[in-house]
Amino acid sequence: MPRRPGLSEFSLIDRFFTHRTRHTVLGVGDDCALIRPRPGHLLAISVDMLVEGRHFSKGTDPEALGHKTLAVNLSDMAAMGATPRWATLALALPRADAKWLAAYSRGFMRLARAHGVDLIGGDTTRGPLNLCVQIIGEAPAGQALRRDGARAGDEVWVSGTLGDAALAVAAGQQSIKLTTRQRLAATRRLDCPTPRVALGIALRGIANSAIDISDGLLADLGHICERSRLAAQIEFETLPKSALLNTYAATPFGQQALLAGGDDYELCFTAPRARRAAVLRTGSRTGVRVTRIGRMIRAPAGAIGVAVIDGDGLPLAPAQRGFDHFG
Ligand code: ADP
Ligand code: MG
Repeated sequence: MPRRPGLSEFSLIDRFFTHRTRHTVLGVGDDCALIRPRPGHLLAISVDMLVEGRHFSKGTDPEALGHKTLAVNLSDMAAMGATPRWATLALALPRADAKWLAAYSRGFMRLARAHGVDLIGGDTTRGPLNLCVQIIGEAPAGQALRRDGARAGDEVWVSGTLGDAALAVAAGQQSIKLTTRQRLAATRRLDCPTPRVALGIALRGIANSAIDISDGLLADLGHICERSRLAAQIEFETLPKSALLNTYAATPFGQQALLAGGDDYELCFTAPRARRAAVLRTGSRTGVRVTRIGRMIRAPAGAIGVAVIDGDGLPLAPAQRGFDHFG
């Protein structure tokens, strides 16, 4: 690309985005990076873009943003049961702000190192703040956790707790009032999600299907239903809640946060009833709470999708489904 954001483009890449790689043939500095996948593995590739004003607000802490831009991609790896290995980073920046870049790169690289991910290339240009990460991972051939692998009779599970990120968004929009402590806890979930990479990898050969919850449980489990041509039945009372969410669980708002709140980046997966103990072992081995929330059933009269029932077994009409950027 001939258009440069200024004289500092190359020194900027050099200073903030050129790091030692651990398992890369050729990294930052050439026209392409060169990587060698391990024999017997398929490459898993995904890309996610975070746009200021859309996915995060102006003035968001750059270190948290560095973390989050990679975290959402690692979450896709987790949902696939893939081992993350390489990332590329495309940035549009309004200006070359060294302080901002140092913090951003710190947040990004800390998480990258923690997961053994090499940053192997990218693109840098001037423009409205836009952060785009591509992640490349590996999964042993035939073992990736796909959305289309669920079977009728599978049990549905989720990791962690749901809905806290939605509370942070609501507090930011003044729809609910949180104490300072509550707000900090919820904001941490929103800005600094923990991708469930180890859990996803450990679920290879146990789970039949998986997805990460970025648009809300109903929407994302709905994708598993569509791809697997099945229906899911979820018991509302079983949904795992944090102490904070618990105080809202009985309100329509809490209900919606649990069912349709995005940005939690927990995993939703299905596994045969016979693997229940194996799933629980996997959860404790990887230090992640896993909760059984329902089951997959043959779609009644073509009704592919998610039904939610309350404590009395009665259908619960969800106020709103997950987030859709063009909805
Ligand atoms: P080209 O003009 O061939 O696209 P660039 O001048 O854009 O090359 O980039 C030079 C090198 O720096 C390339 O290896 C590219 O992958 C890398 N690079 C550019 N921006 C980034 C970034 N934000 N993070 C990591 N690597 C980057
Ligand atoms: Mg380029």
